[in-house]
Amino acid sequence: MAHSVRDEALALLRRLGVSEAAFAPGGLPARSPITGEIIATLRETTAAEATAAIDAAARAFPAWRAVPAPRRGEFVRLLGEELRAAKADLGRLVTLEVGKIVSEGLGEVQEMIDICDYAVGLSRQLFGLTIATERADHRMMETWHPVGVVGVISAFNFPVAVWSWNAALAFVCGDPVVWKPSEKTPLTALAVQAIVERAATRFGGVPAGLSSVLIGGRSIGEVLVDDHRVPVVSATGSTAMGRQVGPRVAARFGRSILELGGNNAAIVAPSADLDLALRGIAFAAMGTAGQRCTTLRRLIVHRSVYDTLVPRLKTVYASVKVGDPREDGVLVGPLIDGPAFDGMERALGEARAIGGAVHGGVREHAAQWDGAYYAAPALVEMPRQSGPVLRETFAPILYVMRYEGFDEAIAMHNAVGAGLSSSIFTMDMREAERFMSASGSDCGIANVNIGPSGAEIGGAFGGEKETGGGREAGSDAWKAYMRRATNTINYGTTLPLAQGVTFDIMG
Ligand code: NAD
Repeated sequence: MAHSVRDEALALLRRLGVSEAAFAPGGLPARSPITGEIIATLRETTAAEATAAIDAAARAFPAWRAVPAPRRGEFVRLLGEELRAAKADLGRLVTLEVGKIVSEGLGEVQEMIDICDYAVGLSRQLFGLTIATERADHRMMETWHPVGVVGVISAFNFPVAVWSWNAALAFVCGDPVVWKPSEKTPLTALAVQAIVERAATRFGGVPAGLSSVLIGGRSIGEVLVDDHRVPVVSATGSTAMGRQVGPRVAARFGRSILELGGNNAAIVAPSADLDLALRGIAFAAMGTAGQRCTTLRRLIVHRSVYDTLVPRLKTVYASVKVGDPREDGVLVGPLIDGPAFDGMERALGEARAIGGAVHGGVREHAAQWDGAYYAAPALVEMPRQSGPVLRETFAPILYVMRYEGFDEAIAMHNAVGAGLSSSIFTMDMREAERFMSASGSDCGIANVNIGPSGAEIGGAFGGEKETGGGREAGSDAWKAYMRRATNTINYGTTLPLAQGVTFDIMG
């Protein structure tokens, strides 16, 4: 029997440098989904303190933007070093607070390190275009400037990586960051803030207020959403959250980066390598207990391979070990809380009512930990794509459906509100290319012969439609954290006007 989650988590928090001042009797409970026990109660940030954190960030902005970008990169390099040193402890804390299996907890911290490395290089590459002008003896170019305070609102399921995707880029771009983590995962956020402070001390000269954390729920997030001194709000979470945050930020002409829910599918074509598909599907559908925005939720299988693939999948589903994520061999940890399990049961009930055949999906380990919610992953054979299949239920449910023609598969694939991630398993080059073409998948991520989840930081991450349209991490996602100025320089002695306009004055 593993030792107490609470004791281990408190020891990790001490080692990671979280101050005792963060705790308060009767405050926000930080609960471990592994056993359901409360690890600590935390002092919640008041609205006045949240505004003060934004004040401090706004004051830090002119000082930080004056630091040359490659020097700002040096700060992020030190942050990456501190994260490397803390990887084992922080990864373990992710496991204890979110219930991820050990390799996924460590992988989340590795992703933070990766984005720091990426941002360090980027700090010397924040360049704009030089553009041909129609006027003689003129030059035109783009310059990218720091934009100001970046507000980050994050979800429970990637409690630290999402902050780093935003913060590592924002810091090199010259922007302070105020972070409102999920109220379900405050401990890992406090640990990250302690790590940032260590990097800041080593760097020397980081302005006070460059990085801060607000502990609390939605109302504290709303302070960030409504403050005009926060020109960019990056909000990760449910589509319901984005529907509220997006219009409020837009109403004050702020910019939002929305990273919302997904309802991701994979198509399994007649030519698919089924051994590969089986592995890809298993990880994408059951990994992180189905609690990734990119989790595979819909499987669209050609009727010619359905009866080969689906029985094999059922065997895998029945054999996967569900339990304490600290244990070797466990692949599926707990759901985050009771409401998550209720949502899963509700969706399975609705699927049954419209003819779905449910395999798995029952609660496990309830006798051992009545406050923890473990569920066997569910495979649901559906007669058609309807009801709960059309929405995201944040739990390990994979709906399986048949298709006949490729156009039908693409149409089914795109017939949901969300547009985050997608994949196809095929050896047919025409199908693969069509899937990635303008008339194929309508998602922000479209993969071939790998599942929809498990992105790496080099590519821009995000999705279309109800996923919100935001992009984070690699490619040119950094541009969202800067403002663009177009500069026109006349190095001649006349003043030709664009479009041939004449404006001759006397004298
Ligand atoms: P959630 O929407 O319940 O909460 C997310 C965050 O938003 C929390 O910090 C919460 O306090 C805050 N919040 C909620 N309403 C708010 C409001 N009106 N104003 C300001 N802040 C508000 O999401 P969750 O349950 O923590 O996470 C799961 C969801 O997140 C899933 O839908 C998942 O697909 C999505 N997600 C998306 C991505 C992505 O990159 N697209 C990544 C991770 C998770």
